[in-house]
Amino acid sequence: MLAKLRNYVPYLMFPLLGLAFEGFGYVMKGGVVAKAFPYWHSFVVLFVMITMERFWTYRRAVSQRHVIWRDLTSTMVQTFLVGGIFGAMFLPILHYFPETFLGRRLLFGLSNQLGPLWMQIIAVFLFTSFWGYWVHRFEHYNNFLWKLHGYHHSVTNVQVSNVLVSNPLDYALRNVMGGLVLSIIGFNPVAIGLASLIDLNYGNFSHSGTSFKGGWLNYIFNGPEVHRWHHATKLPDDPRFRYGANFGVSTTFWDQLFGTFCLPKDEKGEVLAPAAIGHPEGYPDEPNYLKMLFAVRAFPSLERFFDRKPKEDEAFTVPAE
Ligand SMILES: [Zn+2]
Ligand SMILES: [Zn+2]
Repeated sequence: MLAKLRNYVPYLMFPLLGLAFEGFGYVMKGGVVAKAFPYWHSFVVLFVMITMERFWTYRRAVSQRHVIWRDLTSTMVQTFLVGGIFGAMFLPILHYFPETFLGRRLLFGLSNQLGPLWMQIIAVFLFTSFWGYWVHRFEHYNNFLWKLHGYHHSVTNVQVSNVLVSNPLDYALRNVMGGLVLSIIGFNPVAIGLASLIDLNYGNFSHSGTSFKGGWLNYIFNGPEVHRWHHATKLPDDPRFRYGANFGVSTTFWDQLFGTFCLPKDEKGEVLAPAAIGHPEGYPDEPNYLKMLFAVRAFPSLERFFDRKPKEDEAFTVPAE
């Protein structure tokens, strides 16, 4: 009974953590820490998850130590650069429409036109998770995008250090563009802040290499048991899972609604774990961050800039005396 309750702690902890961060963020607005370290809450969440992974380690965990620099580089690039770069590129285009047709920067001039705060939090959450679900599903279906997103699927262990491992364009499509579209509607910034923190917390939790069992909460939240099936090398033989399963980031709601929810159980009703984590077509994990950045898998001609083998005459020339 107690062990079962322990499993539920992280699930219930995250909305509270989200609230606490939003509160801290409000207090620290414009303060030294917020200025010096603008994404501090992302790193606090990562630290909480890494600590959890140490105590409650997934029993089939595979070491990722050899790719730790790739993980760190990717995490830094996605956190500090990708959002800013894509925002600078697409926000002017998005703002152009309300500015031209309505004479203001946002679709709704006043956020209270969109309903009470709690309703806006739910609306923002549903919008971003719906966007994330369909873009992610499309990335598994479209050949070119699958090559980019496939880098994320090449990891051989699902753990929080590789939650942000991917090609930046793939990452931006799934996690940044929805937020940019949302930001021109005119929702209350507090609703956006809270909903995205909840999203971030559960998204990171789904990627933790922890042994927590979700039980009935798996039917609401995308916990680690569920997300590991998204990363399985082999899914159950079912036409619904032809292009993958469990595309949701923080919730399993859309997967259940659109028929892509996969959580195999044994005869006792215990959730089964996938036999192995990795790319379904066998692509090995890519340790070279630059190869992932330039999407060498999608553009194989770039390969020659990386694996430069010594030319034959170079390799066999005996230096002159
Ligand atoms: Zn995927
Ligand atoms: Zn993942």
